[in-house]
Amino acid sequence: MGKINITADNKCSFCSGTTCCSYFTQQVDTPRSKADFQTLLWQIAHEKVELYQDEDGWFLIINNRCHFLEGDGRCGIYEQRPTICREHDNEWCEYDELAEKHFKRHFTSYQALLKYCKKRFKRWDG
Ligand code: SF4
Ligand code: SF4
Repeated sequence: MGKINITADNKCSFCSGTTCCSYFTQQVDTPRSKADFQTLLWQIAHEKVELYQDEDGWFLIINNRCHFLEGDGRCGIYEQRPTICREHDNEWCEYDELAEKHFKRHFTSYQALLKYCKKRFKRWDG
């Protein structure tokens, strides 16, 4: 059997789960105070929410699929899809390299973030 060459044209058809339509991120102000981290703890306490820091700052990841992602991985509103979807380039995307690779910090649970808070603030409980 011949080897299939994965190119930008056919790559999305091999991407099970259509990764880029299965979450979104939202930048947050750089947390500095206990109050800032308390807010992030509240946010990450919710289902399917993660937090990361990379060279551009701090971001929430909301791991929810887009309403318009169809079962076969196609976009149900392709002609009217939002600008950010139109501008997403699949030449080098989450299929090629996990975004996590460039994270400086990555919290996937309330417990993990709380542990970090307790280390960062000596008097976290005080
Ligand atoms: S652009 Fe990348 S992450 Fe998105 S569906 Fe295509 S291969 Fe998957
Ligand atoms: S609108 Fe279409 S391209 Fe954009 S995230 Fe939803 S399914 Fe994906």
